[in-house]
Amino acid sequence: MINTHCEHRNGNGQAQRQGAAKKSEKKRPVVCPYCREHDQVIPIFYGYPSHSAFMRAERGEIYLGGSIAGPTAYYCKRDDREF
Ligand SMILES: [Zn+2]
Repeated sequence: MINTHCEHRNGNGQAQRQGAAKKSEKKRPVVCPYCREHDQVIPIFYGYPSHSAFMRAERGEIYLGGSIAGPTAYYCKRDDREF
């Protein structure tokens, strides 16, 4: 059951118009510029990786880019390229 704790008891007019100001709700997948696919694109992790970051890198969820942040933010596993 949905917990609605914002009940509108304004006699006149609509009281609730929730979520009107939110814009970029949808996140478009990052597409690789080389193969134009997004299923093999993972974000590059910069900095000293924590244990969980290591685990995610092991699973291929992120790419460890090193301790110094570079200009690229994503990595395509298919092309073995950063972009
Ligand atoms: Zn690619």
